[in-house]
Amino acid sequence: MSIQPLTGACFCKSLPYTIQAKRKEDCTLSAFCHCSKCQVLNGAPYVWTTHWVEDAITWSQGESKFTSQQGQEGSTPSTTTPSSNPLLPNKPELPRTMQTFETMPGRKWKIRCRVCGTPLGSWNEAKREWTIWPPSLDRPTVTRQVRILDPNGSNEEATATKEVTDVGSVEDLSSWFRPTHHMFFGPWRTIDLNDGLPAYLGYQANSERVK
Ligand SMILES: [Zn+2]
Ligand SMILES: [Zn+2]
Repeated sequence: MSIQPLTGACFCKSLPYTIQAKRKEDCTLSAFCHCSKCQVLNGAPYVWTTHWVEDAITWSQGESKFTSQQGQEGSTPSTTTPSSNPLLPNKPELPRTMQTFETMPGRKWKIRCRVCGTPLGSWNEAKREWTIWPPSLDRPTVTRQVRILDPNGSNEEATATKEVTDVGSVEDLSSWFRPTHHMFFGPWRTIDLNDGLPAYLGYQANSERVK
């Protein structure tokens, strides 16, 4: 099986990444995580998380799609003061648009864009694995025609059509690493889901199945 490389980035595109998996097993986990840390860090009811072996992920420095003229003054890479400390242990080559936050001393760091603040994943020093939250993957765009309805019309008669561009499916891109289960599915969860996937109280490998 040949695996196509995938690309993704934060909202402002200053912190792009590439997923270059050599084999399917380079993705060591794909699940929906309901832990309270993921909820707070992402401002989300739960996250889709994926874990990758170290050499499958490459970070680079992109150009922000925002400029100060667009009301984003003070948030471009040139106006921030990058810290001189290493972002992650023994990884001097990381782009300075990356910001890291140590959530477990010496073990885990969360990763976000220094410019726009989008959380993108984390680094696990103990397991030497990256976490990527795949909603940030670059999607194909699809165009479709929509009908414009006459606001004064008595019936739903279309007066014209226009073309709109939508974000394409992330499901197609991730067909070989779709989420297989829910984890940290405890009382702290914000939503109950009935999508047919099994749910575990902690990590799948070492916790009780609750659904
Ligand atoms: Zn950004
Ligand atoms: Zn989590």
